[in-house]
Amino acid sequence: MPPLSRRQFVTRSVTTVAGSALIGRTSAAPMPPMADLSDSAPLIISTWPFGKPANESALACLKRGGSGLDAIEEGIRLTESDPTNPSVGLAGIPNSEGVVQLDACIMSGPGHRAGGVAALEGFAHPISVARRVMESTPHVLLVGEGARAFAAKNGFERGPKVSPGQKKAWKAWVQQQAEAKRKTDNHDTIAMVALLPDGNVFGGCSTSGRGYKLPGRVGDSPIIGSGLYVDNEVGAAGATGLGENVMRYCGSFLVVEFMRQGLHPQEACIETIRRIARLDPLGFDLAINFIALDKKGRYGAAGTGQGFEYSVTSERSSRVLQSPGLTAKNVGPVGGNVTK
Ligand code: ASP
Repeated sequence: MPPLSRRQFVTRSVTTVAGSALIGRTSAAPMPPMADLSDSAPLIISTWPFGKPANESALACLKRGGSGLDAIEEGIRLTESDPTNPSVGLAGIPNSEGVVQLDACIMSGPGHRAGGVAALEGFAHPISVARRVMESTPHVLLVGEGARAFAAKNGFERGPKVSPGQKKAWKAWVQQQAEAKRKTDNHDTIAMVALLPDGNVFGGCSTSGRGYKLPGRVGDSPIIGSGLYVDNEVGAAGATGLGENVMRYCGSFLVVEFMRQGLHPQEACIETIRRIARLDPLGFDLAINFIALDKKGRYGAAGTGQGFEYSVTSERSSRVLQSPGLTAKNVGPVGGNVTK
């Protein structure tokens, strides 16, 4: 499986701009000043350019009178259904045994409720199964065979375990295993967070995880606090990137906690990466990215390295933006104050 195209087409130059810790730019998706990063609810933010149609589907759902959870589920289902997306849904990259195992979670600000599934095989919409776990069981997370049995019992839509194309790519990978194992650039996630006009906050997250992972491997995406966190007093955050480097730090929870302390969502994403980089032997070489929004309709994102693109949708506009990218060189002393 070749690296994902969005990593190939982005070209940037690194510039320094007063008031920002780091600025990375792409001609396709310019990065606006932090002061402009706000909009009125309904406001939906998600990871990557493929989040934009998902955001728009979520907004359409809200306009039809759907709830916040309906909107998150409907938006993410669109991405899960995309047969060209190699990192979300059943078209995702298989694990090392050639099996696609999906991870997802969903969270409601009202009631602080959450549900998730991990290592789910053979079902098209893990986000919907995650919602059902939240709404009809006393549990938060079902995994593997238990998740599959739950989805089957509840009549969720099945899908092919692997397509001929996925199988071919997997076989090629098996042949080149030694080389492919060294590659980490074979994963992505849709994390989506939404602020509604009534001030309530919701989020969801779905992925096929790290390509060619060990069977049973679970990343950050279905783990509440790691790949997603929603706090109805503060806002919400979601992650994409190398799950192992997010889940060891409860990354999305940390972003929300920084917002609680008063940081703008973009500063909170930056400060979270700086905190993680300070502690981690890999420093900024972590391949992690966050999105966030707060109750005031402010939003932002940040990633390591060159940063990443994320999607922002409101009634006013629907756009793909470039996040700041953080490296040891462009954020100053690790652990410093990002607002200076
Ligand atoms: N976070 C996902 C995982 O590790 C992959 C990604 O978002 O790139 O499973």
